[in-house]
Amino acid sequence: MGREIRRVPLDFDWPLKKVWHGYLMPDSLDGIECTHCHGRAWSSHAKTLNDLWYGYLPFDPTSTGSTPLRHSTPAVRRFAERNVQQAPDYYGTGEAAIVREATRLADMWNQQWGHHLHQDDVDALLAADRLMDFTHTWTRETGWQKNEHAITPTAAQVNEWSLSGFGHDSYNVWICVKARCAREGVPSRCSHCNGDGYFEAYPGQRAEAEAWQRTDPPTGDGWQLWTTASEGSPMSPVFPTADDLAAWMSDPERGEDWVPAETAAAFIAEGWAPSFISTPKTGVVSGVEWVGHHATEED
Ligand SMILES: [Zn+2]
Repeated sequence: MGREIRRVPLDFDWPLKKVWHGYLMPDSLDGIECTHCHGRAWSSHAKTLNDLWYGYLPFDPTSTGSTPLRHSTPAVRRFAERNVQQAPDYYGTGEAAIVREATRLADMWNQQWGHHLHQDDVDALLAADRLMDFTHTWTRETGWQKNEHAITPTAAQVNEWSLSGFGHDSYNVWICVKARCAREGVPSRCSHCNGDGYFEAYPGQRAEAEAWQRTDPPTGDGWQLWTTASEGSPMSPVFPTADDLAAWMSDPERGEDWVPAETAAAFIAEGWAPSFISTPKTGVVSGVEWVGHHATEED
């Protein structure tokens, strides 16, 4: 997401704010979405398990042999203490506020399989090398390295770990869902579309869609401001010189996109700026402004 300068032919006349057609795969290359899995490619059982993971369907922790969390469970309590400490205006203060928040967290997490894995689920994650916090060590010098002395984590340890930090990502969910389907002897992939999620719209459509590549607009002598947000589209007319584009960018008519002339010039020299930059010193500023200042400082 950002702004960039493109050199396009002087007579380039793609409409402003419209995504360049070379960046969008034509609809004619779309497949037909499977009505059974809605393009997700999962079997209905896999979908059910996914919903249990996130608590979209009723879940019971004891069904996986896990112990339901309570407000007094140390990991829950620690999380609640942190929440209350960080936003006392919202949660209130003191023991009652902590217990209330801890009760809310415990109730929420007790409804999610993702925080109540069975040892079989943990074993599937270990087999896929997905629990590196337990099995690997990380240093700046060597990155992740397998820890030969690591002890196989228990389900209880992994479930406690899942309450803090980043926890499981969606790939971990898929690993657990797939392994549980296999243990239960049911398919994890949608049988209607062969687990593709889509049917070919015509023979060869899938190969054509895979072979499709985006094409950049033509290049030339003109200067134009583009946004890279939502694929990429032109934001300014095409100008014969960089100075003309800088003058356009620093014209008061640009409204809230207006930047000073020297900022525009520096930005054009730099060629690219993210939409917004946040720095401790300036707070959130527009990327054009930031690159402009930044380039000026370095000069
Ligand atoms: Zn399907």
